[in-house]
Amino acid sequence: MVAVSVWDRVVGQDAVVGELTEAARVTGAARPDNHAWLLLGPAGSGRSVAALAFAAALQCENSQSPGCGRCHSCTTTLAGTHPDVRRVVPEGLSIGVDVARDLVRAAASAPAVGRVRILVVEDADRLTEQAGNALLKALEEPAAHTVFVLCAPSDEDVLPTVRSRCRIVRLRVPGAASVAALLVREGAEPAVAAFVGRAAQGHVGRARWLAADEGARRRRAEVLKLPGRLRSPAECLAAAADLVDAAAEEARAATAARDQDEMAALRSAYGAGATSGPAPARSGGSARSSTGAGRASSRSGGGRALLARGAAGAVKELETAQKRRGKRTQLDALDRALIDLAGWYRDVLVQQLGGGAELIHPDQQAQTRLLSERSSAAMTLRRIEAVLACREALGANASPLLAVESLMLDLH
Ligand SMILES: [Zn+2]
Repeated sequence: MVAVSVWDRVVGQDAVVGELTEAARVTGAARPDNHAWLLLGPAGSGRSVAALAFAAALQCENSQSPGCGRCHSCTTTLAGTHPDVRRVVPEGLSIGVDVARDLVRAAASAPAVGRVRILVVEDADRLTEQAGNALLKALEEPAAHTVFVLCAPSDEDVLPTVRSRCRIVRLRVPGAASVAALLVREGAEPAVAAFVGRAAQGHVGRARWLAADEGARRRRAEVLKLPGRLRSPAECLAAAADLVDAAAEEARAATAARDQDEMAALRSAYGAGATSGPAPARSGGSARSSTGAGRASSRSGGGRALLARGAAGAVKELETAQKRRGKRTQLDALDRALIDLAGWYRDVLVQQLGGGAELIHPDQQAQTRLLSERSSAAMTLRRIEAVLACREALGANASPLLAVESLMLDLH
């Protein structure tokens, strides 16, 4: 593999890399046969990394191996400064119709320097229905020079009308060895890389995070101690409360600073507008993009009362959005913990069945072996199913505490 290719960071996806490289190669002087692509893959599979690499390959000046990683087009695309590559990265929970309309306008304008104009929408699953419908027109009758690259976890997460207009590319969960190799290329110790590559179970971001953050490794260790604590119903309930609290704490730590910054920016924007001077640029609603995100909102002598009402409304809207984001972050943290737990019981099962498959959590082998000797494979299977059922319940909006309590009692 060429050391600097844009595909280097697309881990364990040989088939996808082959397909996208080929599409970029046939582009030649025109755009690829397909003007709308949908990259599907679970969290951590690297779908947004693949989308950016594809954008670079489409702009690449090296027609033999598109995505060379060395030319000006490749490097500016990866750096987020290529004028013809625009990325929409949702910061909140949804991508609204305003952002979609901006994209439609951008899709209609000619590329500034490149062959094609590329619009990347990460987390297209967060397009509201209205936003999806606004995009449809551009997806149906695209300008000749425009390529859309949408990313989402799975088929069901995308509006069928949007999906049916896209060429679908499926990413798989990368293997532990590919993840470890990436981390080594990024400078991690081989032993650490091998350990977190397995522990992260194919989630590249999680592997990086475990490799870099001692707090994350400590939280993982705490989670994996839970099975040993479930000796009585009372202890099960206590373990459930601890797990839910830890997820809430993790979410608070992850979002507090950003919430404060956003609120300060909002207040100062309205504060500045309330006195005098030019109208402040709006921050682009629920999404930002690497080029031309902001839109100036003009305000013509409508009076301060109107502005004050607007400010109060905007603050309330932001508070609601932040609350939703906090909840989502907490659920994500809880879900990661459950994936770790499922892996722990899977290791128990591996030892019960023999056959020598590699363990996900080799550092826990003393504990998992103990349980493998004291229980049956059928019991372990039921426990794994209970963990997966809990993940599903949380995905369907069950109360986190109730769902986790019920799980801990099942694992008991
Ligand atoms: Zn290049």
